[in-house]
Amino acid sequence: MSWNRPLMIVLLAAVLALTWWRLQPADDEIRRSQLLMGTVVEIMAGGRPAGQLEDAVDAAFAEMARLDLLFSSYRPDSEVSRLSQSTNGGTVSAETAAVIALGLEVARRSGGAFDLTLGRLKSIWGLEQEHPAVPDRQAVTDALAGIGPNALSLDGRQLGKREPQLQIDLGGIAKGYAVDRAIAVLREQGVASAAVNAGGDMYLLGQRPERPWRIGIQHPRMKDAVLETVEVRDRAVVTSGDYERFFEQDGQRYHHIFDPQSGFPARGCQSVTVITDSVALGDALATALFVLGPQEGLRLLDQYPGTEALIVAADGSLHASAGWTKYPVSP
Ligand code: AMP
Ligand code: MG
Repeated sequence: MSWNRPLMIVLLAAVLALTWWRLQPADDEIRRSQLLMGTVVEIMAGGRPAGQLEDAVDAAFAEMARLDLLFSSYRPDSEVSRLSQSTNGGTVSAETAAVIALGLEVARRSGGAFDLTLGRLKSIWGLEQEHPAVPDRQAVTDALAGIGPNALSLDGRQLGKREPQLQIDLGGIAKGYAVDRAIAVLREQGVASAAVNAGGDMYLLGQRPERPWRIGIQHPRMKDAVLETVEVRDRAVVTSGDYERFFEQDGQRYHHIFDPQSGFPARGCQSVTVITDSVALGDALATALFVLGPQEGLRLLDQYPGTEALIVAADGSLHASAGWTKYPVSP
């Protein structure tokens, strides 16, 4: 794997910022990490003999590595890259179809705020390059040509592309799906207490030996400060923030979550945390809510019963869905 050094420094800084890293494994827990899907993935597991936990965690990492080969845009031979290079799509694996189907549903329900066809836009902003810079307006307009919730069609495992130049980017959802699969593998291996975190896309399975999972939500502007601590069990906790990957130019912050209408970073929020059943859904929704902003974002959430969100708006104000109150605890 070829890793771009400046990119890795940015990624490590972003992931280290997550309060998750304050969780210390107890004697009967193990904690392992791997670089996967362009981020640091961490797994904690407990409640079983160490050897059994090691095998289960290895199997969970292997599952995520397998999915990375399907979904990554930075691997030219991935399934998603082949679709991007194709003229009008093709047959996809059942898993790629499942991720795209969920992404298209969130794309439609969010009125296009969530978009799976921002690959060209993402590359012209170059946020993962050594020297990212604001692209010129014409390049932005060109990169948005043909995108939108109807740009892709899916019929079973048959994916259609409306325009040949569309580049698919599953960056807003694929990590979440991979975390769901990692949790499924851990369960299959008999693990009942685990947490998987892929750069802010988390699932908390069961509870820790003799205590619940407590997760601190990073304050989007105060490094190392916790905005709220939540207690969850068998839930996905997913955060999208403008502090994860960004650069500054002329005093303005440019981050990695784009408003498909403007082709520029979305301006309504500093961070969005979603708590729901599946990490894939939480991942897509956190990105969608970030683009929509607090008012429209919370309206979208009404379509997803059992899903709650805490939004830090651009002005720093907090906006939570009605059922959010069941999660916060004193740290
Ligand atoms: P997340 O950290 O889950 O919010 O995802 C951010 C990533 O999703 C970016 O790095 C892009 O790959 C992709 N992305 C950016 N803007 C959007 C959008 N409006 N809809 C869907 N994916 C997006
Ligand atoms: Mg997301």
